[in-house]
Amino acid sequence: MLCHKPVSILIRCALVSMSVAVLALASCSSVKLFLNRGEKQVKREPRPVEPSGPYVLIFAFDGAGYDQLMAAINSGKAPAMAGMLGKDEGGGLYEHAYSAPNAVSILPSTTVAAWSAIFTGAPPSQNGVPGNEWFVREEMKFYAPVPVSVEEMDDNRAMITDNLVGRKLKVPTLFQQAGVRSAVSMNMVYRGADYFTIIDSTDMVKLFTEFVAGKDIHSSGKRDIYQQMDEDSVPKLLDSMKAQGVPNIQVVYFPGIDLYTHLAPDPLPMEIAYLENVTDPLVAKILDAYRDYGILDQTYVVVIADHGHTPVLKDPRHALGADTSAGPAAVIEAAGFRPRKFVLDPGKDEQDYQAAFAYQGAIAYVYLADRSTCPNPGMTCAWKRPPRYKEDVLPVARAFYYSNKNGRPVPAMKDTLDLVFARVPTPPGINTNEYEIFDGHRLVPIWLYLLAHRRPDLIQLNRRMRWLSAGPYGNRAGDVLLLSRSGLNQPIQDRYYFSAPYHSWHGSASPQDSHIPLIVARKDYPGAKLKRLVDGIAGDEPSQLALVPIVRSLLVSEPPAAPTVAPVNSRSVQSATPAAKSQ
Ligand SMILES: [Zn+2]
Repeated sequence: MLCHKPVSILIRCALVSMSVAVLALASCSSVKLFLNRGEKQVKREPRPVEPSGPYVLIFAFDGAGYDQLMAAINSGKAPAMAGMLGKDEGGGLYEHAYSAPNAVSILPSTTVAAWSAIFTGAPPSQNGVPGNEWFVREEMKFYAPVPVSVEEMDDNRAMITDNLVGRKLKVPTLFQQAGVRSAVSMNMVYRGADYFTIIDSTDMVKLFTEFVAGKDIHSSGKRDIYQQMDEDSVPKLLDSMKAQGVPNIQVVYFPGIDLYTHLAPDPLPMEIAYLENVTDPLVAKILDAYRDYGILDQTYVVVIADHGHTPVLKDPRHALGADTSAGPAAVIEAAGFRPRKFVLDPGKDEQDYQAAFAYQGAIAYVYLADRSTCPNPGMTCAWKRPPRYKEDVLPVARAFYYSNKNGRPVPAMKDTLDLVFARVPTPPGINTNEYEIFDGHRLVPIWLYLLAHRRPDLIQLNRRMRWLSAGPYGNRAGDVLLLSRSGLNQPIQDRYYFSAPYHSWHGSASPQDSHIPLIVARKDYPGAKLKRLVDGIAGDEPSQLALVPIVRSLLVSEPPAAPTVAPVNSRSVQSATPAAKSQ
């Protein structure tokens, strides 16, 4: 049954557990498939192994904000990363690296949206993946690859084993654009790569399930399970490399950093310690493998993160999504809307909702129906139509604005929000208008609002909100957008977030959430040249959207240095262990 569509088989065969996967393999015998040690061949015909470089090795650190990563590197306790950069020459320039000092994430500064933007080079309004979860009004369907407002793990499982995020992306990935042999370890964006390696996927879903559903049991003592996850992923990718040859692009993604930081009672110092004690030794292991293959000096090493982290109070007062009948859902009800149940798939008799939510930490999307199509309970709204501005959007914007300002109609929302965004809706198929700021009376363009209200704590707000909201898929970020009060410049008791309670969250436009590392390094190579290359592509305001053009440019850069040992090809890699080759 699984073999009806050959293209999907390769991934479908890599199903949740090994036993299922073996069964699937038996029914798909015509397809070449590798299931050994957690390696999945994603492409039907892998691209050939190039006889030489350049190679690009991308370290993708989930949740490692700029300041935390640099603190780890500068502490002397992360020798692999510090050694890779070489002497610090100031301004982000290192002897053998360039670390952009001012790179930012897209908005929301949240995992799935950010990695989708990083690995496509396109912002959410163009690539169609705007968050950890989102609602597609034309399909009346909710997607939650990393659930925040719902608890069902079906989409999380599909993200890991069935390419859910890749299937939802509307633009080509880095691996498709670059057209060279590529491998991805662990990251949810792997469409178009030749190989995808993961730890046992049952274990991985279990870890996410615990993270989403079992938050209360976590304490600092739980570091070992996330550490284990990151550590176990490395032998999988190294085994794959040994068996299949070194790919021109290798993504090494560590999700444990982020999961751990959300749950750590003292998030930022504990994240730095994790980067030093867990991440750095894993980086060392992978660099050692490249060194043993004799290709380290032909390899550009790139380091990037999706977002940082802001400590918050772990209680239901500050977790605005903790009680699904209070907070934002209560505001919607007070405005006269029937809210969608907080589940992945509402039942047949629960389809009469007029408003839906998707939570991204410091940001919430509110999707609204044209209520004239479904005035009475039991009626399904015509979600393919946009909401009406005056009759649907404005009442909701107003209800949030005043609940926040004076606690009416919902007292629990008082002083929880920073800004309420809205816009005049457009029909599907037409590029959406960009979000504007609702000032209590009318919509004000973001740039104009910022002229009157200086907000240096919301970095590049206008540009990044346009990336999120204006374009063919801009309506996936809702009809009203809420930005909670957040940021290190606010006392911790004044920071709020849309989710269940955690010790740390992100998603906002604050520097702490948005300022990310973007580093390019190469052994024995002048950092100044790397700086020129990165600056030439990323410009004065580098962002996550620069990663794809940077990597593509590195791949066609000047001829790599001569290898120190015999050229690596699939046969030589397969015929020798890294240790043997370095002899
Ligand atoms: Zn993340």
